[in-house]
Amino acid sequence: MKKKILFSLFALFLVAACSKTVFTGRKQMNLISTSEINQMSFAEYKTFLSQNKPMTSGPEVDLVRRVGNDIKAAVDVYYRSKGLQKDLRNFAWEFNVIDDPTINAFCMPGGKVIFYTGILKVTQNEDALAVVMGHEVAHALANHGNERMSQGLVTQLGLSSLQIALSQKPSQTNNLLLAAAGAGAQVGILLPFSRKHESEADEIGLDLMAMAGYNPSAAAPFWERMNKLGGSRPPEFISTHPDPEKRSERLKQTEAKARAYARRYPVPASSKNRK
Ligand SMILES: [Zn+2]
Repeated sequence: MKKKILFSLFALFLVAACSKTVFTGRKQMNLISTSEINQMSFAEYKTFLSQNKPMTSGPEVDLVRRVGNDIKAAVDVYYRSKGLQKDLRNFAWEFNVIDDPTINAFCMPGGKVIFYTGILKVTQNEDALAVVMGHEVAHALANHGNERMSQGLVTQLGLSSLQIALSQKPSQTNNLLLAAAGAGAQVGILLPFSRKHESEADEIGLDLMAMAGYNPSAAAPFWERMNKLGGSRPPEFISTHPDPEKRSERLKQTEAKARAYARRYPVPASSKNRK
């Protein structure tokens, strides 16, 4: 009987924590609240910026911010069209550039985007930069960080411990979740995503950049340039990315869908910062 109650509680908890990604409708388990994960993310972001001084001006900064704001405008249009604009209140977008040859870019939960100047040498043009921007923003919009930490939480604590935690006072459960999530935060936010997350970020990212008026055909050549870098690719991009051929194939299919999104959800010209 007791076991049954525990199980019901656990099921209830999981149901409550289950959500769907906005763009792809994939079901996901997010055990950590958005405010908790953003609190951790913003604290890490602050630490990161204190150790890696962002550039304050220059063509690279202008470029990254222009593309970032274009993608943000596309996000706004899409969320508004779905009546989900209130979900965007959790995002405090920021686009910063670090002068460093590292070939990387990332977006932390809550919309804190970092580009290294190193990746600009691989993007080479604004459309390809929008491919990367869309991909990184997509990771944050689809709550990939939260999902990964939640998976880690279940793995770390095990289902039985979670059940016991849930039978205790909510405050204790909360502390337990926070502790595990805190442990995850140190290693979680900047670790490579799973292949599923990478493919999803590719797809959502391409939709967003096309909506923002960029050319989705820039994606395949960009990833080819990235793949040529081989072993020097950084964590976010080496990670568990699909093999290059499959990725090109998938991108061609995604490209057609992205163009359709661009027609269906046009971003008003006034919100475009580009000429
Ligand atoms: Zn990624």
